Amino acid sequence: MTDFYDSGLAPFASDPLHSHGRIILEQPAPTRNDFQRDRDRIVHSSAFRRLVYKTQVFLNHEGDLFRTRLTHSLEVAQLARSMARGLALHEDLVEAIALAHDLGHTPFGHAGQDALNQCMLEHGGFEHNLQSLRVVDFLEERYALFDGLNLTFETREGILKHCGLAQARELQAREPGGVGARFIDRTQPSLEAQLCNLADEIAYNAHDIDDGVRSGLLSIEQLRESVPWFEHYCRKTLALYPSIQGRRWLFETIRLMLSEQVYDVMETTRAALAPLELHSASDVRACPHALVTFSVPMQEASSALKQFLSANLYRHPRVLHTTEQAKEIIKDLFLAYLHTPSEMPESFRGRHDRERSVADYIAGMTDRFAAKEHQRLSGWSALQQGADLPLDHQPGLGLGRARGDKELLSGLQPNHPLSPSNPTSNPRANPPPHPSGEPPFGEPT
Ligand code: MG
Repeated sequence: MTDFYDSGLAPFASDPLHSHGRIILEQPAPTRNDFQRDRDRIVHSSAFRRLVYKTQVFLNHEGDLFRTRLTHSLEVAQLARSMARGLALHEDLVEAIALAHDLGHTPFGHAGQDALNQCMLEHGGFEHNLQSLRVVDFLEERYALFDGLNLTFETREGILKHCGLAQARELQAREPGGVGARFIDRTQPSLEAQLCNLADEIAYNAHDIDDGVRSGLLSIEQLRESVPWFEHYCRKTLALYPSIQGRRWLFETIRLMLSEQVYDVMETTRAALAPLELHSASDVRACPHALVTFSVPMQEASSALKQFLSANLYRHPRVLHTTEQAKEIIKDLFLAYLHTPSEMPESFRGRHDRERSVADYIAGMTDRFAAKEHQRLSGWSALQQGADLPLDHQPGLGLGRARGDKELLSGLQPNHPLSPSNPTSNPRANPPPHPSGEPPFGEPT
């Protein structure tokens, strides 16, 4: 099948007509190329819908305007598509990769991942990139003929941005020459995959400034003093619009930063590609280093901003306080389901690898479903409501604290029926029925 996008592609772009294919062979769709079909499967997946209630940096209930995993993914897709079109790469593929890249994120952002990884240390660990691949390869249950979404190699390759050697070898054993191979051979992924990696970085650097200032945890003055790159664009914006102030000044500054990064990536990448005689995506994969990059000065500026955000936003005492509470919720849930698998839906019970099943179930939860499950199983409320309140009015930045450390040891209150210390453990063989007969919101299906 030919489509009009393909006619304008660079020779080194990924081409659905020369895809490395799907694990389960399928007939081509009559009206869509294989990358469009991947994107559509991702958009229709349960995991994609759950991104709307998953934390990016700020917990979902802390304000309606903060980024969630869903809006972050949409912003990554927008940036990646803009750059792909300018570089004559395949827009449908970058869109599919961008929309799927965070499907494996746990509730409560990186705090959730760290906690789940801690729980899984003796059982292969937990890493959100690998989990995104598990979601699209195994965990989605929508199709009659296969588990997962049966996506093309190219989309799966882009989803797996990072991978440790041990995990790569496991993937390689299951799928020789598959998406794990490049981490062993130290080769490159497609240009579309490389592009999405940078689009992710550009997106979160920009929107975390916006959300950081919106939350009151960062100030524009602090950014101007500490990040010369930001100050440069602040001044540039002021030169363009001398009377600008407040939020519009911030937004225009961020807009300028985004544009300059996009132009920088496109110029630097074009310059890197020009002297190379690349005739196919396979030639790209054989290159010893990445070809889609920032210029050196832009890479340095981006790294400096990342360091600033890490020190002043991600590690802000109030964010860390929330983070610690979120970790406790994840650890409690892990212990509870491990001890009483009947509290999980049928499809997650009785599997050979119980720890991995529990991790899969928890990783699929939204923030609010995890909090509700925690309340159901432990009897205490972890999340306080307060959408759109100024953060100064939200004690503890959203997460309540209502029990002592000793109670945490068992993961549950000692007198709770599920607590391992309670001899009459588990009178409830099954979770409460869902009123609609459907799984509740956020529950992995
Ligand atoms: Mg991301």
